[in-house]
Amino acid sequence: MLAPMPHVITLIPGDGIGPEVTAAVVHVLDVAGVQIDWERHDAGITAVEKTGQTLPPELLASIARNRVALKGPVATPIGEGFTSVNVGLRKALDLFANLRPVRNLPGVTSRFQNVDLVIVRENTEDLYAGLEHQVVPGVVESLKIITEKASTRIAEFAFDYARRRGRTAVTAIHKANIMKLGDGLFLDSVRAVAKTRPGIAYTEKIVDAACMHLVMKPEQFDVLLLPNLYGDIVSDLCAGLVGGLGLVPGANFGARAAVFEAVHGSAPDIAGRNIANPTALLLSALMMLDHIGETAAAARIATALDRTLVDGRVRTADLGGSATTTAFAEEVVRNLV
Ligand code: ATP
Repeated sequence: MLAPMPHVITLIPGDGIGPEVTAAVVHVLDVAGVQIDWERHDAGITAVEKTGQTLPPELLASIARNRVALKGPVATPIGEGFTSVNVGLRKALDLFANLRPVRNLPGVTSRFQNVDLVIVRENTEDLYAGLEHQVVPGVVESLKIITEKASTRIAEFAFDYARRRGRTAVTAIHKANIMKLGDGLFLDSVRAVAKTRPGIAYTEKIVDAACMHLVMKPEQFDVLLLPNLYGDIVSDLCAGLVGGLGLVPGANFGARAAVFEAVHGSAPDIAGRNIANPTALLLSALMMLDHIGETAAAARIATALDRTLVDGRVRTADLGGSATTTAFAEEVVRNLV
């Protein structure tokens, strides 16, 4: 019998802890027997050092060709002339939807139990449009862009995701009492979509009240739908509910490509020490395996990860242990059956 064709997938090791966690994840997928030809490309600070560019055209061409990428965290060089690399990548590939499932993992003690929510964050506009200027010295204007088109598109994504995954409720999060036009347009667009999706309960919460409800009773939430900036902030808040940034995966979807990456950043404070938790990127990689149809492999690795966490002997420092990134990955491999 012919061996199955390998999947060709773009791999961005990234900056800071990126190379450490991506190496760990690639190792686990490899031992699990998933056939992948990785096309490695740099981005961010690592790419600037080598090529002078934060987003080399070969990288964008590789993702456009392969339509799937696994991405470590990427940092934007500080200084004039560099716009956010992550925003640039999402814009270049029109990855309009950012999906972040936040749930308790077995064996991980956290402030809350029974958290199982999904953040759907709009990825292309809002204050991330990067439109800022100095009006006069001492006065700066940052433009928050909200469009009906992008708001409708992300609402459709959220409701359709909810239906596909058997989720029953979508909560739109906003500050339309203050930004009556901008967040008002976001809400109007979401409401119009909600009317066409009758099977899913639809509610709205003002972002400050939503934060309070999240830290008091997070188990009441199902799918959260947010514009870009609130999505960024609430994602980190939600990561804290279940044990921290080392545990929460993510994916960016567009019509033509999907890029899988953890919620966390490049964590310069712990970079190069082999102590980062690779779980968030591993879970992102499992979302990627589901996306490319490798569901059996994803389930098998998920079971091995659960065993490792429940057993608890090998844990990284963020979960109260002293294991290295590599030792944790080895333990997941050992638990593969
Ligand atoms: P960004 O602005 O890119 O989100 P940041 O510096 O604000 O970056 P992170 O890089 O995500 O945020 O780091 C926030 C904190 O969480 C740091 O103390 C970091 O060490 C910790 N952290 C992030 N990811 C991990 C991980 N995978 N394992 C352990 N600790 C992590």
